[in-house]
Amino acid sequence: MIEWLEWARGPAFVFSFTLMVLGLLRNLLLTGWNITKALLRAGDKNVPWKNLIITSFAWILPLKKLKERNTPVALFLVDQRMPNMSGTEFLADAANFYPLARKVLLTAYADTQAAIASINDIGLDYYLMKPWDPPEQNLYPVLDDLLSDWTAAVPLPYDGIRVAGTLWSSNSHTVKDFLARNQIPYQWLDIELDTEARNLVESVSEGKHRLPVVFFPDGDTLIDPSIQDVAGKIGLQTKADKPFYDLIIVGAGPAGLAAAVYGGSEGLATVMIEKEATGGQAGTSSRIENYLGFPQGLSGADLARRATTQALRFGVELLRPQEAVKVRIDDPYRYVVMADGSEISGRAILISTGVNVRRLESPGVEELTGAGIYYGAALTEAAHYRDQDVYVVGGANSAGQGAMFFSRYARKVTMLVRSSNLEAGMSQYLVDQIANTPNIEVVLRTEVIEAIGENRLEKIEVSNLDTKEVETLPAAAMFIFVGAVPPTDLVSELVERDRAGFIVTGSDLMIDGKRPKGWKPNRDPFLLETSVPGIFAAGDVRHHSMKRVASAVGEGAVAVALVHQYLKTV
Ligand SMILES: Cc1cc2nc3c(=O)[nH]c(=O)nc-3n(C[C@H](O)[C@H](O)[C@H](O)COP(=O)(O)OP(=O)(O)OC[C@H]3O[C@@H](n4cnc5c(N)ncnc54)[C@H](O)[C@@H]3O)c2cc1C
Repeated sequence: MIEWLEWARGPAFVFSFTLMVLGLLRNLLLTGWNITKALLRAGDKNVPWKNLIITSFAWILPLKKLKERNTPVALFLVDQRMPNMSGTEFLADAANFYPLARKVLLTAYADTQAAIASINDIGLDYYLMKPWDPPEQNLYPVLDDLLSDWTAAVPLPYDGIRVAGTLWSSNSHTVKDFLARNQIPYQWLDIELDTEARNLVESVSEGKHRLPVVFFPDGDTLIDPSIQDVAGKIGLQTKADKPFYDLIIVGAGPAGLAAAVYGGSEGLATVMIEKEATGGQAGTSSRIENYLGFPQGLSGADLARRATTQALRFGVELLRPQEAVKVRIDDPYRYVVMADGSEISGRAILISTGVNVRRLESPGVEELTGAGIYYGAALTEAAHYRDQDVYVVGGANSAGQGAMFFSRYARKVTMLVRSSNLEAGMSQYLVDQIANTPNIEVVLRTEVIEAIGENRLEKIEVSNLDTKEVETLPAAAMFIFVGAVPPTDLVSELVERDRAGFIVTGSDLMIDGKRPKGWKPNRDPFLLETSVPGIFAAGDVRHHSMKRVASAVGEGAVAVALVHQYLKTV
């Protein structure tokens, strides 16, 4: 058996000339049928038809579809004489989709000149003069040779999700970030650098110029999708299975994940709601070095992946992306209302919504966010700034970690810090690491007053807080870490919060020995309980919390123990 037919069980061929079904032109029909028979004869009887993709010569459309699915095409074997277009025209079009596929033209004697010309014009690999019988002598060896050549030279394409866009389209960043943070593998295609990807995008976007275009392995595409669209397509669960739970956790950062693991493992019917991706802030950290048991540190993505798997293994339902917008009570039940209007009920609720990044209010920043300006470590983007100059705004631990991470890629990282020394807001181990990293420069007493750029960040304007001197600096990217605010609007009318919006719990609720207003149980609030019995808070969202991964994890675990105690009382 000849090898290339064996090989054909993998990638697909395209025979552009075969119109057996429609039976339009008798001579073509014959040619097509004969060659197909010859190809079949070459292998055993089990030639996998599904891998032999037969497309009509009249439309390029099937090729487009094949490309959208990222199906590899090794060889085009095309008759020069076709009714609607010539073989060479077809091959020229096909090369837009599959520039590396080998091209073979079937020609009559009269077409020899066209065939020779097309060697230069379209990079024709071979022309087969009709009649090519016997195939063992005139057809198979040629194809065999070209296919081996292709197999050796062309890497098999990625067969997962592909996201095509530009570095400067902010929704491209959102989609990539969502996939990465939810541990969904994908391939990034930058259409500014990859002509094949650009052609592919143009072929599906019908001139709408909307990015990104997401290609799925089953051939579906989404243009400029929301993360809900992407989540729906990849099958993430967004709706609760059960009508009622023992414990509803809002927020799947370290606190929520720990609570989910303990709740699930201890037999509580537990559901967890997450609006973006599991791992929360920790999930965006490039390296957490102070978490117990990981002397080399671990990445936030790794921590998130492990904890998510652990929670799911214990039967916890995880709804993502899904946003909780309101919590209400109807004693003894507690309800969480979602952004899509649906509602889940349960016996106890844990609020572990952590904190959101604070936005930098300087002019130009909002417009260029996602196009060179990013909040947090934006790990998905770092490698794109290899050998360029980037800025990190902020002076706390997260900024320090970000700077260390970017220093692996960027030529130079400049940290712009408002305070007069790094020690004021950063752990000493990071201050030391930064001091020992030659391509990080720390500029103190500085703030960003404007971000400048047409469609992407080009320059930033910074001001010295003491001298008021203003400087304009070219900037490839700016990563902002300027603090955090607690997202607690969902309970604003229900539980007590401090002036900054953090949720007050436990003994902090007791004023002069008095229990909070409206408190009914004949006991004081539990350690992590809010001013409403059965509603708990853990992690960064809690008033006076430690703002550390380990403390959030610890609080999540403690909260579950307290939920058990609470459930005994209702
Ligand atoms: C870049 C960075 C590096 C860090 N490095 C370290 C470190 O090295 N060591 C360390 O100890 N700490 C570190 N921290 C701090 C640490 O990550 C946090 O203290 C910890 O993540 C807090 O956990 P949490 O679960 O309370 O909240 P978060 O991690 O903030 O998680 C809250 C989650 O709730 C979700 N959420 C919010 N509102 C809603 C809603 N309405 N509906 C549904 N979901 C919602 C959010 O999307 C988020 O996923 C770092 C923080 C950052 C940003």
